[in-house]
Amino acid sequence: MVNVPKLFGELVFNETVMKEKLPTATYKAYKAAILTGKNLDLPIANIIANAMKDWALEQGATHFSHWFQPMTGITAEKHESFITPTADGRIIMDFSGKELIQGEPDASSFPSGGLRATFEARGYTAWDPTSYAFIKDNTLCIPTAFCSYTGEILDKKTPLLRSMYEIDMAARRILKIFGTETEKVVTTVGPEQEYFLIDKAMWEKRRDLVFTGRTLLGAMPPKGQEMEDHYFGIIKPRVKAFMAELDEELWKLGVLAKTEHNEVAPAQHELAPIFTTTNVATDHNQLTMEFMKRIALRHGLVCLLHEKPFDGINGSGKHNNWSIATSEGENLLDPGAEPQKDLRFLVFLTAIIKAVDVYQDMLRVSVATPGNDHRLGANEAPPAIISIFLGTELTNVLDAIEKGVDFNSTDKKIMEIGGNIIPHFVQDNTDRNRTSPFAFTGNKFEFRAVGSTQSISGPNIVLNTAVADILDEFADKIEKASNKEAAIKKLIRETVVAHKRIVFNGDGYTDAWVKEAKKRGLLNLKSTPEALPYMLKKKNLDLFAKHHIFTEAESRSRVEILLEDYAKVINIEAKAMIEMLTKDLLPAASCYTGSLANTIASKKAAGISTVGSFEIDMVKKLTGLTTALYKQTEVLQKAVVDAGKVEPAEKAANAYHDKVFTAMSDARKIADELEALVDDSFLPYPTYGSLLFGVNC
Ligand code: ADP
Ligand code: MG
Repeated sequence: MVNVPKLFGELVFNETVMKEKLPTATYKAYKAAILTGKNLDLPIANIIANAMKDWALEQGATHFSHWFQPMTGITAEKHESFITPTADGRIIMDFSGKELIQGEPDASSFPSGGLRATFEARGYTAWDPTSYAFIKDNTLCIPTAFCSYTGEILDKKTPLLRSMYEIDMAARRILKIFGTETEKVVTTVGPEQEYFLIDKAMWEKRRDLVFTGRTLLGAMPPKGQEMEDHYFGIIKPRVKAFMAELDEELWKLGVLAKTEHNEVAPAQHELAPIFTTTNVATDHNQLTMEFMKRIALRHGLVCLLHEKPFDGINGSGKHNNWSIATSEGENLLDPGAEPQKDLRFLVFLTAIIKAVDVYQDMLRVSVATPGNDHRLGANEAPPAIISIFLGTELTNVLDAIEKGVDFNSTDKKIMEIGGNIIPHFVQDNTDRNRTSPFAFTGNKFEFRAVGSTQSISGPNIVLNTAVADILDEFADKIEKASNKEAAIKKLIRETVVAHKRIVFNGDGYTDAWVKEAKKRGLLNLKSTPEALPYMLKKKNLDLFAKHHIFTEAESRSRVEILLEDYAKVINIEAKAMIEMLTKDLLPAASCYTGSLANTIASKKAAGISTVGSFEIDMVKKLTGLTTALYKQTEVLQKAVVDAGKVEPAEKAANAYHDKVFTAMSDARKIADELEALVDDSFLPYPTYGSLLFGVNC
């Protein structure tokens, strides 16, 4: 039996270890620095570095690495050993405060969106003491921020930390108005991570999965997900073994892995951690994705994190559960028993409503990736239109405020489902709405439009900053007022009236909603190239500049990186598809047609009539589809060449979307029809049927 409490955090330089290994004064200085956000002095950093090194050596570590999150969306590390030569030709294991605080990786090969040229290669990593150091692969990993020589930020952590600082300051202004003093306000996040597991031997045979992480062709098998027999179903032994090992490895790293279950689609699963501060949740989610991939391999499986690995089957997302809490752990989004009377709650709630409405474009931008384009707006994931689900009770509270009437809470309903044997419980005040991109779920908001491969940093930067901005605006107004209560009530009401268009409790999958949203003036940005330029709108550039998240140049560079990334991804997908069509499907169809033609010839030679036979019919159909597919492959090829010549980045991304992606979809339609006719034994790659149903047992 695994001793979970003993195992938990054993590879983390956490509070317990620090208390044990650091002199009390150093520990106190470290804690004070975290609380106030002030820099640690070098002498203190030296003591911490030395204690970290001693602890890491005890755990068998030989190297250290600054662990950072460049714009590639994955983590980066540069390992250095602890060895330092001595005068007598030996070595000692050493690690200084300077090495802890600052690193200098060559920044030239990380995306910078034109912020710096290759010759300005110097970049810095700087220790983030708010996220614990940990050991991975015998290496002491130190979470760090990453910036260029001239100070421009090149990563996903720095702006997130800045956004947390902004919301801390703004929320505390509001709390002060209500007489609540707290040392710090943090945003908390629990990201639920969806993923697919497939057999590694099968994965190796598909160029599309190997090169792009998703299937580019594939006819639907007779059974898809219509039976819904996978959701919360019994977890198969091979997957169970994977999950058990994943949990253990994550627990060692202090990740609060909590819930594991099968998802709706066959071969799809989910892991939900217990929520923690946004910064740590982001680091932990990066580690979770990394460990999912590496542990799957140990079980002969491959973990697909892509948003849409299989056409016709649900894709994967990441539900970003988000709330605001004080350092004492009080959840500021808890509506309590009588939300209508809780002005403080209503101020936070209406600030969020306004922030989501005013910055709906930025929330959409924050989840715009080529993979996520397959989900948003398709009938399985939230629509591309950003709206808020509040549920009946809170909506009624806001209605009453708007109308200036008293709100009468509907009595709590006691659930009685099993006579006296099953305990009775109080029904939740909101049912679930799975179709909303931004749903209030009791005491937190769940941003469901985030893609499964994405770092959660981007969406949380936008959420934190947008909400901080509105809280600041509210605080400005209330602080000035002589009658604060009246000012607060007026503000709440005005905000409800001005921004209630963003609240929608109905079914987000219907066409009626698309029409209604248009009438309300809500945006419906369907693709990544359409969404990204919204980040350059003045109000958005101003928002990030004002809160010191991104300078205008940094905002522009980010859009540039994301547009280029879009073009690159579609380019790789198109080339992988062309290769698979030319080297796998078309030859397989041709060989199969040839073998049928041989059968026809043999039958004819033996004097057997082939009129109206299976072979004749199939040869005709196969020839027709093969020719059509070959032609479409040429169209796709040309589209790729043409798109490769388009500049600048925005136009190029649009060309890849409008021309290349469309040509791929057209090719796929023919390919799937053709594949369904080809004898499996001729296909060099496994079909959807075997990928989705043939494994995991
Ligand atoms: P589900 O949405 O599947 O019903 P839960 O309601 O238990 O699941 O929570 C889903 C996720 O939300 C979990 O990761 C949980 O830790 C997280 N969560 C719960 N409370 C908060 C909070 N106050 N702030 C952020 N995340 C939270
Ligand atoms: Mg959920």
